[in-house]
Amino acid sequence: MGEKKVALITGGSRGIGRACALEFAKADFDVAIVYAGNEEAANKTVEELKAIGSDATAYKFDIANEEEVNAGVASVIEKYGRIDVLVNNAGITRDNLFLRMNSADWNAVINTNLTGVYNVSKPVVKLMMKQRSGSIVNMSSIVGVMGNAGQANYSAAKAGLIGMTKSLAKELASRNIRVNAIAPGFINTDMTKGLDPEKFAEHIPLKRLGEPEDIAKTAKFLAVDGTYITGQVIGVDGGLVV
Ligand code: NAP
Repeated sequence: MGEKKVALITGGSRGIGRACALEFAKADFDVAIVYAGNEEAANKTVEELKAIGSDATAYKFDIANEEEVNAGVASVIEKYGRIDVLVNNAGITRDNLFLRMNSADWNAVINTNLTGVYNVSKPVVKLMMKQRSGSIVNMSSIVGVMGNAGQANYSAAKAGLIGMTKSLAKELASRNIRVNAIAPGFINTDMTKGLDPEKFAEHIPLKRLGEPEDIAKTAKFLAVDGTYITGQVIGVDGGLVV
């Protein structure tokens, strides 16, 4: 067990989660990342984190599976002894127009993007309450604020996450645990690789897609510097929702 602060980042192997992991490592955190199955990406990110001095570990478990989560988070606590920051970032899409969306697509997205956050937060909040300190950052989406055709499942989960963020902020404030959400716009990751960047950029006031680092800097700000901020949803979307 090290002396440093510890950040647990779900979906930390790729995209926004990977950028968050690197940002926290640069801020002198030891970083535990969670991934679903892409071993190669997870190992590569761990090597990058170690190269900047973080005692990093990758944990493979499915955040939608409560038993796997409990065993996985127990391993994190066994190794690091504490968790100062939780970034609930892992998420998936299964887009389709509503009448074509089957219950498997509905359930997969709700179970991962919303219930998955419940599953991971439960044992982590228990620990943070004992520590009497902690900060949680939930990765929502502008789609949870404004809706999007073809994403009824995803927007429902991301809007649910905003409600959960506000409720937990109120419930946990007395224990010195802050809970905030980020609502990213369109960010350049594997999740959005089907989108035409130029076509999307036209509609964004800052005229570009966001980069994972744009989100990571905000996550670090909320978790580390934003000591009087709780229950907020910060849009990081190039001005798309104002
Ligand atoms: P991404 O590139 O597709 O990466 C997803 C990450 O989540 C990977 O590390 C993946 O692990 C992990 N993951 C997925 N399902 C999991 C599960 N069931 N259990 C554990 N880990 C799981 O996604 P991203 O674009 O970086 O998005 C990150 C978050 O930001 C998501 O919550 C997404 O909804 C949100 N967001 C993204 C955008 C955007 O434009 N990209 C916009 C708004 C919000 P493997 O590598 O093992 O698959």
